[in-house]
Amino acid sequence: MIRFTAKLGIYFMLLDNTENGFILKSNFELKKAYFLFKIISNRALTNIGKNALELSLKLKLPILFIVKGTVFEQFCSGETLDESFKTVQKLYEKNVKSYLHYSVEGLENEESYDLSLKEVLNSIDFVAKRNILDFTVFKPTAIASSKILQKVSEKKELDEDEKELFDKAVERFNEICSLAHKRDVKILVDAEESWIQDAIDQIVLKMMLKYNKEKAIVYNTSQMYRHDRLKYLKSLKEIAKKEEIFVGIKLVRGAYIEKENKRALKNNYKSPICGSKDLTDINFNSGAEFILSNLTLFSFFSGTHNEKSIYKIIDIMKSKKINNNDSKIWFGQLYGMSDNISFNLAKNGFNVIKYLPFGPIKKVVPYLIRRAEENTSVKGQTSRELELIKTELKRRKTT
Ligand SMILES: Cc1cc2nc3c(=O)[nH]c(=O)nc-3n(C[C@H](O)[C@H](O)[C@H](O)COP(=O)(O)OP(=O)(O)OC[C@H]3O[C@@H](n4cnc5c(N)ncnc54)[C@H](O)[C@@H]3O)c2cc1C
Repeated sequence: MIRFTAKLGIYFMLLDNTENGFILKSNFELKKAYFLFKIISNRALTNIGKNALELSLKLKLPILFIVKGTVFEQFCSGETLDESFKTVQKLYEKNVKSYLHYSVEGLENEESYDLSLKEVLNSIDFVAKRNILDFTVFKPTAIASSKILQKVSEKKELDEDEKELFDKAVERFNEICSLAHKRDVKILVDAEESWIQDAIDQIVLKMMLKYNKEKAIVYNTSQMYRHDRLKYLKSLKEIAKKEEIFVGIKLVRGAYIEKENKRALKNNYKSPICGSKDLTDINFNSGAEFILSNLTLFSFFSGTHNEKSIYKIIDIMKSKKINNNDSKIWFGQLYGMSDNISFNLAKNGFNVIKYLPFGPIKKVVPYLIRRAEENTSVKGQTSRELELIKTELKRRKTT
């Protein structure tokens, strides 16, 4: 837990500096962001907006210009890689790095998986050619069938056709990780629902055994809202010691809580999710402490907007005399959110990286709807954004 020491008092101020946190935003942009978060904070308005947007798209009404000037501008970096790179450069001027993701959700078929594979391979080449980029990312279900991942996770026997499809999926993972290794680009594998995650963990471990011999190139994601994940991290440590590999971990709380609890209730099994938010917080912080205590084997990517967890990580780093800019530690936030965390950590020498989703406006709508819904349900996050923007607008008025 956080220790309320005089030392931490100083850190508490670190993320509160709104002048630095919003250094890239004009007054107009700040007011627009305020208006947007205000709407998003209201569940009824978010639902109305979501339904109106879906209907307008179906009816082919020309409403994309509204999306572009509002949620798209707030949460996406552009429509193409080149357009997004301008945002990358802007952030980099303030020492904030980026990783780009083509956030278009494809169909569940082999053709779509091959297309997504191509996108990821392109993104690795794109990163390799630009020295201000280090990481790229992919979502396993963009390149593999969730049905087969589920069957493998449930340890059910696959028939011949399914075996062939699973082998193809593993080969796609291999192509990505092999190119990432060859080009020296770190690759983050997103975590998904618990009922397909075991298969993903198995495949990613296979990739780590192959490509993480000299350093962590392949990073798996550990969702700490799952009560079994500390055990998982400990098992990775034993494997890393035995097999002489390095482990890359993106630590998050987890994005699918409602789906997870609903499914567990419906099918009458114990939910894999911690029993309360407090337990998830403790689990996340314990995971961070465990990784930071084993930095000879682990590289750590913290994917959180929770300021208490960030102060906790900083506190552990200080107590272990780990430098702020240790190359094995990264702090990740989503584009359009928690800029106070990103810019203030970067100013203090920590390695900071923003997740930049991009893609044609029409095709990233599902991502944008998810962003709005998540901000609606994570009340604390949205009210914190609103409070910070208000503080900064007031500060600008008086200076
Ligand atoms: C850079 C980055 C990458 C990410 N990548 C992934 C990914 O690959 N896969 C993925 O699933 N998510 C991913 N996420 C999303 C992440 O898992 C969280 O949903 C999101 O960041 C909110 O959590 P938080 O730690 O920022 O903050 P908080 O607002 O402190 O935590 C909210 C989270 O706490 C948990 N929680 C809330 N209520 C309860 C409850 N009653 N009981 C138990 N737990 C509860 C949930 O996980 C919820 O999302 C990523 C986030 C970031 C910033």
